[in-house]
Amino acid sequence: MLLSQSVENLPRTSAVTIKRLKSLGILTYYDLLNYFPFRYEDYSLVSKINKIQEGEIVTVKGQVEEAKNVYTRKGITLQKVLLNDGTGKVELVWFNQPYLAEQLKKSKYISVAGQVKKNVNHFAVETKEYEILSSLEQITVHTGKIVPIYPEIRGISTKTIRDKVNSVINSMDEPIDWLPKEIIDYNNLIDENEAYKQIHFPNNFSWAEKARKRLSFDELFTIQLSTSLIKKEWKKEQATNKLILDKNNLTKLQTFVNDLPFKLTPAQNKVYNEILTDLKQENPMNRFVQGDVGSGKTVVAAIACYAVFLNGFQSLIMAPTEILTQQHFNTISKLFKKYGLKVGIQTGSKKIKKEELSKYDIIVGTQALLNKSLEFKKVGFVVIDEQHRFGVAQRALLKQKGINPHLLTMTATPIPRTVALTLYGELDLSVIDEMPAGRIPIKTYLVSKHKRSDAYRWIEKEIKTKGCQVFIICPLIEESEIETMTSVKAAKKEYENLKNQVFKDLKVCLLHGKMKSSEKEEIMTDFKNKKYDVLVSTSVVEVGIDIPNATIMVIEGAERYGLAQLHQLRGRVGRGQDQSYCLLFTSDHENPNSGRLKFFAINTSGLKIAEFDFKIRGPGQIYGIKQHGYLDLKIADLSDLKLVEQSRNAVYYFLNHYKLHEFPIIKDKVKKFQINQISRD
Ligand code: ADP
Ligand code: MG
Repeated sequence: MLLSQSVENLPRTSAVTIKRLKSLGILTYYDLLNYFPFRYEDYSLVSKINKIQEGEIVTVKGQVEEAKNVYTRKGITLQKVLLNDGTGKVELVWFNQPYLAEQLKKSKYISVAGQVKKNVNHFAVETKEYEILSSLEQITVHTGKIVPIYPEIRGISTKTIRDKVNSVINSMDEPIDWLPKEIIDYNNLIDENEAYKQIHFPNNFSWAEKARKRLSFDELFTIQLSTSLIKKEWKKEQATNKLILDKNNLTKLQTFVNDLPFKLTPAQNKVYNEILTDLKQENPMNRFVQGDVGSGKTVVAAIACYAVFLNGFQSLIMAPTEILTQQHFNTISKLFKKYGLKVGIQTGSKKIKKEELSKYDIIVGTQALLNKSLEFKKVGFVVIDEQHRFGVAQRALLKQKGINPHLLTMTATPIPRTVALTLYGELDLSVIDEMPAGRIPIKTYLVSKHKRSDAYRWIEKEIKTKGCQVFIICPLIEESEIETMTSVKAAKKEYENLKNQVFKDLKVCLLHGKMKSSEKEEIMTDFKNKKYDVLVSTSVVEVGIDIPNATIMVIEGAERYGLAQLHQLRGRVGRGQDQSYCLLFTSDHENPNSGRLKFFAINTSGLKIAEFDFKIRGPGQIYGIKQHGYLDLKIADLSDLKLVEQSRNAVYYFLNHYKLHEFPIIKDKVKKFQINQISRD
């Protein structure tokens, strides 16, 4: 039996079911096997009727003696069936399924799983699952064992999926193992066919666990092998623009660095040197820089741009929002003022004339840089800031703007190292793990509901006495990071309230993602120029804004955020010379999350915070990772660090000891994975 065959070949399956399976992305038998249950029900206790005990979840099998509908006064109908298995009789009860009585009346044998309840003088089984049997010897699918429960979506029930999976498993004859035996043995994995059987219909929970381990291993292995292979391919690419960093150029770079208004931190120096080393190579750089908010990534990227300029090439810098782009444009223009570099900006509203593109040495832009009609002639270096905001395909597009340009991606999202290695395995990692000296750590306080008005009065006083500015971030209304009208409305309401009630004699402004970019820019510029005291905003517009005079960050509904995201928000303040504060407003007095928030309040290292969140809430909570395609992991869990490690080692082993072309299934999986990655965006 071919696992690659279409679900259309499934026996006894209606056209509707086939259509629904397809709409779930289940096109083949193999896809069906890979539709995993998210939990199980244990119906494995099979009992004779005379042995059943109150409270037990049991499976009983027997002959139907009687089936009837009973109508109660409350409008509920009960279906009552009398079952006889030779040792005794028991009443089976269903609720509100009148058609069932008819159906069961006609069936002879059934097997039923349910909970034993005690009625006045007899037992009854409140049914959870049943199946009709043609004989008592027939092997059961839905009862009498541990049964899988699947996500029920698009009108397709667990029972239907279970049925279909069962029929595939029963006819599965070809061995489908694809990993080298050595790797299977070394990692104590069970056989692939067995894993599929056991993940759907485990003999017991320990087998379910073994199956999960095997299939998770497969998934992690495939991801990591794929990214390793991409990396290998990249390493083979010829950089058309290998940079020459001779003494003369290095002196110029050093002069530039010495001229900066501050001294680079050792961490910035380290990463800058890693980048310079990459730029000199035959093959293009593909480096991923992680550094906490405010760790000074921009300047490191700028120095690299200068090295590229000295070699006669252009640099492109892409940022996710107009505000950030504008900010980068200002920073970079200022840095290079004395050095004769021409810096341009390309956004939805600010466009460089096509024929003038080649005049610029550095072009800072939004996604507008990706516009197909833009042709760059001599791009040698591409920087992507806050890279998690962009998809893989966008990144690939930007890279295509030059002929194998060097690529630097940056993120302020602290990601635990193991996760980064898995998610971004194709990139070389650099970490800026220290802050510029002299930064005063931000003080963070949890503010409960009844302390709120005190907090407002304190903020008012701070503004009036110190002339500082304040961010107020409205609560996250929906989980998604895409701003909806609901969150915009909530922000508007909060803005009105703050402006008209709370801070009557202060200047309050509003910023949200649904505003025109020119409006947003105007607000940001005005805020930066101190025309406003308080900026009320939704959480989507927060990335990377640099306003040193803003020293207070208020986050409403703080308990709704992941810690990593809170950390990002908090990073908006603490950029100047003065003490900064972060106030976490929580909506409940007794907050179950307060342990988490307390941890956040006393810790300032982004990485520490990310690791904490990762441990207790899983990788999805790492800000920005949610949208990352890899998180569509089917079965593997990135917080299973041991398995991640094990599978990574297996990838190294595989690459060193085997030839990919001798493993067609692996090759195929890798290919599929890569295609998925691109089409996902
Ligand atoms: P991020 O890493 O979050 O992108 P930025 O590059 O925006 O951080 O830098 C934050 C602020 O720190 C900027 O105002 C920048 O000029 C300043 N900065 C960068 N490096 C240093 C340094 N070594 N010493 C002092 N200030 C620095
Ligand atoms: Mg930045």
